[in-house]
Amino acid sequence: MTTNEKTEYNGPAIEIKGMNKWYGDFHVLKDINLEVARGERIVICGPSGSGKSTLIRCINRLEEHQEGDIIVDGMPLINDLKKINAIRKEVGMVFQHFNLFPHLTVLENCSLAPIWVKKMPKKEAEAIGMKFLERVKIPEQAHKYPGQLSGGQQQRVAIARSLCMSPRIMLFDEPTSALDPEMISEVLDVMVELAQEGMTMLCVTHEMGFAKKVADRVIFMDGGEIVEQNEPNEFFNNPQEERTRLFLSQIL
Ligand code: ADP
Ligand code: MG
Repeated sequence: MTTNEKTEYNGPAIEIKGMNKWYGDFHVLKDINLEVARGERIVICGPSGSGKSTLIRCINRLEEHQEGDIIVDGMPLINDLKKINAIRKEVGMVFQHFNLFPHLTVLENCSLAPIWVKKMPKKEAEAIGMKFLERVKIPEQAHKYPGQLSGGQQQRVAIARSLCMSPRIMLFDEPTSALDPEMISEVLDVMVELAQEGMTMLCVTHEMGFAKKVADRVIFMDGGEIVEQNEPNEFFNNPQEERTRLFLSQIL
């Protein structure tokens, strides 16, 4: 098998078993157990500081966990740069603040990783970049710089940039919470399409309309724990835990 071929592992997309993480003395994630099926769409919500970002950042090793196992696409996440890079190739990430390279054009932002990580010829990488800019409906912005785009457009570029690496899993960390209200739907629409095409997705978001529309499961975190999880109808209409009810009463 050449290095460019995808390993077609068809077990769970993500398995997290007995995972704990500390920042110094602070126990930020407590006994996390979570299995994400291939094609499953999960929304994670919870109060600020509950550990949502830390949890999804552990999945592509932007943060390191200290106890338990994280297995992504069949590959255990261990301290081995080769393994970490193999996992990062499978996992796309979209952040609250876009994190585009300001000195590169929109198209260069998209083609950079395919060229440098996948060793793809520039022409081919640019063709893929254009394909995904069309998918997020901004091909006409390809030669502009991020600073010339609206927040909603920049976030769609960030999604296109991730998709250029053909990830099997997409992680979103509050992708719409830095946007002006009128731009939220253009980003959510792209995420809904992605969900409907079968992408495995973990989205930290408080957009409960999105959760009701596409989530297979909603997870509620508080104090570093998974407090409750359920399919959206049950989660919203019949929350079991007092902490979940309190949270929902504050955001809905
Ligand atoms: P959320 O995304 O749910 O708001 P985070 O995962 O960002 O929560 O943070 C969880 C807790 O960990 C918070 O109390 C936060 O202050 C703390 N924290 C986050 N990052 C760090 C860090 N790098 N070092 C120390 N504490 C951190
Ligand atoms: Mg966060």
